[in-house]
Amino acid sequence: MKAKFAISCVSCGDKIQPGKEISKNKDENWVHKPVEDSEGLP
Ligand SMILES: [Zn+2]
Repeated sequence: MKAKFAISCVSCGDKIQPGKEISKNKDENWVHKPVEDSEGLP
């Protein structure tokens, strides 16, 4: 879905501006879409 408010991505900490595509991660927190997995980095 699209963000209705300016929020912060819990995965990367970046700001997400209203209108950006966002998604919920497994912990029900908003992150950028596609969902980022902070533990997926090498
Ligand atoms: Zn992010």
